[in-house]
Amino acid sequence: MDKKRVFSGTRATGRLHLGNYLGAVKGYLALAGDPEYETIFMVMDLHAITTPFDKEKLAENTREVVTDYLACGLDPKKSIITAQSLVPEHAYLAHLLSTEISVARMQHLPTFKEKVAQRPGGVTMALLNYPVLMAADILLYKASLVPVGIDQEPHLEVAREIARKMNQKYGTDFPEPKRFATKGEYVPSLTGEGKMSKSVEGSFISLTDDLRMIKEKLSGAPTDLGKGDKVPEKGGVANLLQFVELFEGVEKRKRYESEYLASGIKYQVLKAELAEAIYNELKPIQEQRKIYENDPSLVDRIIKEGAEKASKIAKETIKEVKGKMGFI
Ligand code: ADP
Repeated sequence: MDKKRVFSGTRATGRLHLGNYLGAVKGYLALAGDPEYETIFMVMDLHAITTPFDKEKLAENTREVVTDYLACGLDPKKSIITAQSLVPEHAYLAHLLSTEISVARMQHLPTFKEKVAQRPGGVTMALLNYPVLMAADILLYKASLVPVGIDQEPHLEVAREIARKMNQKYGTDFPEPKRFATKGEYVPSLTGEGKMSKSVEGSFISLTDDLRMIKEKLSGAPTDLGKGDKVPEKGGVANLLQFVELFEGVEKRKRYESEYLASGIKYQVLKAELAEAIYNELKPIQEQRKIYENDPSLVDRIIKEGAEKASKIAKETIKEVKGKMGFI
């Protein structure tokens, strides 16, 4: 292995939103252009089935995410781009790695607790095993750098722990993967609570939303009277100001903060300008997307060729790990 490897992915649960774009895909793009790294970006369809899913939509959702990746500028000549389920070694390695981590450790992860709170009756073994599968995704390619949002940090800690244990016990040479952070490592929800997420209705703006839709979604974001003695640090207004910083720059955010403490913010103006700024960033992505939407066979070919390349690396790792673990 000459180059350091980068691995990341997004669940196949629908089109990408601004959180995925700023927290993850912008990191993919930064590293895909760096000759020091070999980059692998997948659509995590095996992860998508750890929560309730629609079998009629799984394949379509997988293609949608690849289409979004390509629209954002990922290039199959520079990166391996494919779907996780086409490389069955991910699930195989997850089983081998699951011997090195306790059930209690999995149950105490904040992400798992959150999901349990959302659906107390729907806790499956697949959900509990999610972080082990994620460790397998990364370690299968011996990736040292993982561009993901800050919400994934506890899962990366699990991956590091498993890598350490495997190396100590079996003499494998898994790197301890580190997170590659972007400026948008935590994109808040439009609802004013928690992070932007595909699974929370009303929380997100999709990369394919047009200006009218963006305006409509922003109009629902909670605000206040627009002035006071202290600029809010959390909730709807704090989130709007964070969006202003991400899309219009820190200077504009400071201007609004000063207005809040003096004459007051006019949220209608803030939201209209913010909508324009977001749309201006998304417009070229949407134009690029049309090329791939009009040529689905190209997308399928990219997925297939990516799987062939990824499989070569994956098979080598499985062979090595099985040998070190004592299988015949
Ligand atoms: P979702 O939570 O919307 O289902 P995924 O779990 O598929 O998204 O996450 C895909 C990638 O996008 C991960 O790297 C994750 O950290 C990142 N991501 C998701 N939501 C956000 C957010 N609100 N802010 C920053 N990054 C995010």
